[in-house]
Amino acid sequence: MSEKLTELFGSDVFNDATMVERLPKKTYAALKKTIENGEDLDPSVAEVVANAMKDWAIERGATHYTHWFQPMTGITAEKHDSFINPTSDGKIIMEFSGKELIKGEPDASSFPSGGLRATFEARGYTAWDCTSPAFLREDAAGVTLCIPTAFCSYTGEALDMKTPLLRSMEAVNTQAVRVLKLFGHDKVKKVSASVGPEQEYFLVDKAKYLKRDDLIFSGRTLFGAMPPKGQELDDHYFGSIKERVASYMKELNVELWKLGVTAKTQHNEVAPAQHELAPIYATANIATDHNQLVMEVMKKVANRHSLACLLHEKPFAGVNGSGKHDNWSLVTDTGKNLLDPGKTPHDNVQFLLFLAAVLKAVDLHADLLRVSAANPGNDHRLGANEAPPAIISVFLGEQLEDVITQLIETGEAKSSKTGGKLSVGVQTIPGFMKDATDRNRTSPFAFTGNKFEFRMVASSMSIATANTVLNTIVADVLSDIADELEKAENFEVALHDLIKKTLTEHKRIVFNGNGYAEAWVEEAEKRGLPNIKSMVEAIPAFASEKAVTLFEKHKVFTASELHSRAEVMFEAYAKAINIEAKTMISMAAAKYIPAVIKYTKELADSINAVKAAVADADVSVQAGLLKEISVLLVEAQAALKKLQAVTAKANDIEEVEEQSKFFKSDVTPAMAALRAPIDALEVLVAKDVWPVPTYGDLLFEV
Ligand code: ADP
Ligand code: MG
Repeated sequence: MSEKLTELFGSDVFNDATMVERLPKKTYAALKKTIENGEDLDPSVAEVVANAMKDWAIERGATHYTHWFQPMTGITAEKHDSFINPTSDGKIIMEFSGKELIKGEPDASSFPSGGLRATFEARGYTAWDCTSPAFLREDAAGVTLCIPTAFCSYTGEALDMKTPLLRSMEAVNTQAVRVLKLFGHDKVKKVSASVGPEQEYFLVDKAKYLKRDDLIFSGRTLFGAMPPKGQELDDHYFGSIKERVASYMKELNVELWKLGVTAKTQHNEVAPAQHELAPIYATANIATDHNQLVMEVMKKVANRHSLACLLHEKPFAGVNGSGKHDNWSLVTDTGKNLLDPGKTPHDNVQFLLFLAAVLKAVDLHADLLRVSAANPGNDHRLGANEAPPAIISVFLGEQLEDVITQLIETGEAKSSKTGGKLSVGVQTIPGFMKDATDRNRTSPFAFTGNKFEFRMVASSMSIATANTVLNTIVADVLSDIADELEKAENFEVALHDLIKKTLTEHKRIVFNGNGYAEAWVEEAEKRGLPNIKSMVEAIPAFASEKAVTLFEKHKVFTASELHSRAEVMFEAYAKAINIEAKTMISMAAAKYIPAVIKYTKELADSINAVKAAVADADVSVQAGLLKEISVLLVEAQAALKKLQAVTAKANDIEEVEEQSKFFKSDVTPAMAALRAPIDALEVLVAKDVWPVPTYGDLLFEV
């Protein structure tokens, strides 16, 4: 396997090696220039590339190609065209032109646009992103050549997740190169954001999944009592992987490797039935495309194993939900990681400057990071009962915090704490040098050795927006830094002062303690850090004046793009909650309540039958149960009526912001009020009459 693996890896990708092999030298060189330096691509080059791509794809069985893009739904979209072209003799030839490679014209009116497009103005374009390689996908539809593309409107506004991400990468590149020039790094031509997203997910049995309308329609359980066992024993995290899951992971890895996705780490997560996959980091754009592929392939492979893969942030109440840890750093084309402190961070001034820049960016724009991680599912995690909190702070660890304190207090950092030697007290186990800093699991934005880990991102969401925001806010601070230092008379002195000033002004964002503690909420409030508890409260930041100034300055979003995105988010929230509410209504009305009524009849029949058999028999158990159940039944019916009424009212509201706020304030509590009696009934009613699989069935029987 391991030898075959080196051949298998990337075998379905039109990658660099394939291009070297298949493209004329001149074409390859021209394309490379576009990929690496962003130079314009000559149409004649595209023609040759398209032809080579087509031959390569057809040799591997492809019949169709598609422009693969990422509309604001957060998932990918595609429209397939076959390569066939009729000839005059009634036959066909297989063709694929440079024009077809570069540009596609899907109807844009059925994708969310947040008011950027009226339905009658349907034109939208997809444009080839040659920085992310084309790949083949094989499924029941056959083999399809997938071409990563950006998606925009007739007037050039971005309608997708990729375009702003690419723009933000250019912004951070420009500003970081400017700063590096001041340090004398003239050889650096490019700085890229590197990203490694860790993906959490749940696996449940497909047959059981199909019996739960809530999982099918909303991706999460809307009802369900806690089973006798949850995650309290900590026996699932890193536990040995069950055979059925292991065989799933094995196939998942192979499928991802073929697509050039560097699936590296896999393990069981904290909650039962929860797992994680992490790839090796890549350039932000490719990492984002790959993460979309990871989610897609996870679902597809699950089906083949009669499993369902749940990517929702909170599929089960009462056990941990899923997130995505977005590991982020800046890397030069000369191979230097700008967030690598080295062994002695105190005298690595360049590192300290970039560190200070990130701290300032996160402090100034915590609201934007928060909204970049907001989706309806994440409302159950951030600021609810689960990690990470909705307050954004940065964990630096003991070593860096000490360096920063020295700098702020004395104006100079003279030493760096080291980890020291770790000995476990057993002769035969070799000692080793510890890391200088322990980890912290509760921080939403943690420095982890040579990168930052943004841990708020939602598990089902594209990582594009989170990285677009990160790149832009850091670019903005770097641009201010470059402005100031470029005009400094004495660079060394100005640099030193700037680092000290920046750290002093923004040290309030640093927090190394327990982010789950109530005390932190109070402390954060004293420090003036925002605590934005829900998606509807987070969204307005995206279209605020501050955001417009920031994103327009760096040409990442226009004001109208920002407003449209805020609108799309409000809409997405309202739609998601509407679906959840309607699913709850139908499950309660068609499944739970009838099942409970049936059971009350069984109890009543039992009482009558027992009494008929033995006149003075004690039927207090049945009678007591019947009473208790009947009370809950009445409660459930009332809550059902209330939820129906309030959902109907929500649907009557036209303005989308107002509507989504109403869903949050009125519909979600009504949903909770219906869930409570049904969950209470679940533990009173006999299992064989309960109409759907329980948490115990779903979480422990894979
Ligand atoms: P953990 O769960 O301990 O945080 P993992 O190994 O699961 O760590 O994931 C760490 C992720 O960070 C991986 O995807 C890894 O490739 C990525 N990573 C490592 N170095 C960098 C870097 N310089 N820039 C971006 N991501 C990085
Ligand atoms: Mg991890």
